[in-house]
Amino acid sequence: MLIAGERREASSGRSFELTNPATGEVIARVPLGDADDLRAAVEAVTAAAPGWGETLARDRGKVLARAATLIRARTDRLAEQLTREQGKPLREAVDEVRGAANVFEYYAGLASSFSDSGVRLGGGLEAEVRHEPIGVTGAIIPWNMPALLFAWKAVPALLCGNAQIVKPASTAPLTPLALAECLHEAGLPAGVLNVVTGPGEIVGEALVTDPAVRKVSFTGSSATGKRVMALAADRVARITLELGGSDPMIVCADADLDSAVAGAVAGRYYNCGQVCTAVKRLFVQETIADEFVRRLTASVSRLRVGNGLEAGTTMGPLNTIAARDRIGGLVDRVREKDEGTVEVGGTVPGAPGSAGAYYAPTVVTDVAPESALMTEEVFGPVLPVVRFSNLDEAIRLANDSRFGLGASIWTRNPETIREAPRRLQAGIVWVNLHLKVPPEVPFGGVKESGLGRENGVQALEAWSEEKTVLVRL
Ligand code: NDP
Repeated sequence: MLIAGERREASSGRSFELTNPATGEVIARVPLGDADDLRAAVEAVTAAAPGWGETLARDRGKVLARAATLIRARTDRLAEQLTREQGKPLREAVDEVRGAANVFEYYAGLASSFSDSGVRLGGGLEAEVRHEPIGVTGAIIPWNMPALLFAWKAVPALLCGNAQIVKPASTAPLTPLALAECLHEAGLPAGVLNVVTGPGEIVGEALVTDPAVRKVSFTGSSATGKRVMALAADRVARITLELGGSDPMIVCADADLDSAVAGAVAGRYYNCGQVCTAVKRLFVQETIADEFVRRLTASVSRLRVGNGLEAGTTMGPLNTIAARDRIGGLVDRVREKDEGTVEVGGTVPGAPGSAGAYYAPTVVTDVAPESALMTEEVFGPVLPVVRFSNLDEAIRLANDSRFGLGASIWTRNPETIREAPRRLQAGIVWVNLHLKVPPEVPFGGVKESGLGRENGVQALEAWSEEKTVLVRL
C-alpha cells in the first residue's frame, strides 16, 4: 500500500498472495490492509488535503502532465505487469495504459480553463458560482480495467483540488499502485493520494463509512454498489456509482455485416468479456440471422485463447478461477434447462484442472428470455444471440433489463439512426460501433447501472462543491 507517499506493509504485518490468472503462479505478496491502515491513510490525506486544495489548478495540471509523460515512458513495463495480474493480452494492456495516459493528458489540458463563473442578477446583486474542492475523497476500483479506472477517478479528483484514498481490487492492485507512484514522481505532494490494499468488505467499507471522506466514487458490481450507496446514505456522503451493465447490441438487416460481426467479437471478447460496457446481449434481425451467426461463429472460432504474454494470443483467461467457474456454470445451466443452443465454445480449454482461468469464447443462440444470460451481468466470454422481427421489438427486448449502461445499434437507415438513440434506455448509445469511451465525453449508466457521470468536463463538477456567493454591491 502507499500511505503519505511511502510504500508500507500492513500494520498487522499480514499479506496475501497475488496470482497470475494465466498460470496460477504467485506473482507478488500484497499487504493485507485493515481498518487501522485505512485510518492511517485518512490521517495522511486529511493533513495533505488543505494544502493541495489551495494550489492553482494550473499547477495541479502540470503534475498530471508530468505523470502522463512518465506513464508513456513506462508503458511496456506497466502493460506487462497489468497482463500478469489481470490476464488480458499484452496488446490490450498496452491500449489500457495508453488510455490511462490519455485521461491524464485530457484533464491536464483542462486545467487552464478551470474557472468560477459570475451571474449578473440586476438590482444591485452579483453572484459568483465557485468550484471548491470537496476535500477528502475515496475511489474504489475493480480489477477489469485497473489502470483506466484509476485514471477516471483519481485524475479529475486531483485536478479539482481533492485528496484521495484509492482502494484497488484485491486481484489487480499492482497497476494502480504503480500509477500512484508515477504521480508522486511527477511532484504530487505526499499524502494527497494514498492506496490501501485489502479486502473490500473491510478496507472498502471503512473507506465509505469514514466521517472524513466526503465523496466516494465506486466502480464494480451492482450488488456491491448498492451496499456502498446504503453505507454512504447514513451520513449523506456524495457518491458516484459505475455499476454493472448488460449492454444490448442490435443488428438490423441493413447493417454492414462485416463490421457488425467484427464489432460483436471485439465488443464481447475484448478483455475476455470482462468490461462493463461489453456486448452482453445481441439482437439480430431474423432475415439476416442465419448468415450473421455463421460469420460470427467462424470469427469467434479464430480467437486464440492463451497467456496474454504470448505472441498471437487474442483472448486471455478470466481474472480468477472462481469467475471462470461462474461463467461455466451459467452455460451448463443453459444446456441443462434447454434455454439455448451452444454454437461454439462452452468448454474449459486445456487439461482438466489446468491452473489457468481459461474459458472458451462462446456463442449461444435462441436464448430464452428467462435465462441468466439475459437477466444477469455476464462478466465473461459468452454471447447470447436472440432474433427479432422489427425495430419496435428490438428496442423492447433491449430495454427489458434492469441495467442501462450502454447500447448499440447497427444500421444504415438514417431514420433508425435518429430514432433508436432516443428510445434506447442507456447512458451511452453507439451507432455502428460499440465499446469506445473517449475521456472527452461523460460516461455512466441509467437504471441499476449507476448514478452520476465520469469523464468529460462533467467529472469536474462531480468532483467539486459548487458554492454560490451572492453579494449586494
Ligand atoms: P465487486 O463489486 O465486489 O468489487 C469491486 C471493488 O469493490 C473491488 O475493489 C472490491 O474489493 C470492492 N469491494 C468489494 N466489497 C466491498 C464492500 N462491501 N464495500 C466496499 N468495497 C467493496 O466485484 P467483484 O470483483 O466481486 O466481481 C463480481 C462481479 O461484479 C463480476 O463478475 C461482474 O459481474 C461484476 N463487476 C462489474 C464491473 C463493471 O465494471 N461493471 C467491474 C467488476 C465487477 P476486493 O477486490 O477486495 O473484493
